Amino acid sequence: MPEQTLLIATHNAGKMREYAEIFAGLRLRLMSLAEAGIGWPAEETGATFEENARLKAAAYCAASGLLTLADDSGLEVDALNGEPGVQSARYAGASATFAERIRLLLARLNGVPPSRRRARFRCVIAIAQPGGSVLTAEGVCEGEIGFEPRGEGGFGYDPIFFLPQYGQTMAELPSAEKHRISHRGKAAAAARLMLERLAREEANPFDTLT
Ligand code: IMP
Repeated sequence: MPEQTLLIATHNAGKMREYAEIFAGLRLRLMSLAEAGIGWPAEETGATFEENARLKAAAYCAASGLLTLADDSGLEVDALNGEPGVQSARYAGASATFAERIRLLLARLNGVPPSRRRARFRCVIAIAQPGGSVLTAEGVCEGEIGFEPRGEGGFGYDPIFFLPQYGQTMAELPSAEKHRISHRGKAAAAARLMLERLAREEANPFDTLT
């Protein structure tokens, strides 16, 4: 059977790199949106990560005709009632830099003690098959918001996402360790099982959908 192509529907270079690492060895050829000639952003008008992941996967699948994986992810901070949540990529404005987003988040948590800085990264992956259904998988990673950025790895909010069990931020972890415990790593592990079944043509996981 010829190798099937999987479109990884993100314009975020950090995410693309992480998926290439997480899906290494899978019998699927990964293609980026740029390689597929798609430059436009899909609408993210959903109220939840799952709605947005489904919207993106379906839109890019329809445009490309390819098996398509999209995710929606973000940071939920308990002391900010779950913000920035689905707005994580647009927090402090769509054109803000990550240094500015991090500064705003730390300013909003000014005076909040360590015991009330709980937060989590959440990721929902949606896989859309041309003319077919959409499968989803979710992953969560619990942590705390630190008091200053630390570390050079990862992307986005990683430098202020503190993992008490490691005594390090997400940006200080080696990437393989990040993938083992991260929201995206966990969601992708579940997605990988679905994709392996698809690649082996053993059973089409989309058949199990109602
Ligand atoms: P999305 O592209 O709409 O899913 O937005 C995801 C946003 O959530 C990113 O731009 C980051 O702000 C944040 N985010 C998601 N995953 C991570 C991660 O692994 N590390 C740091 N920030 C993340």
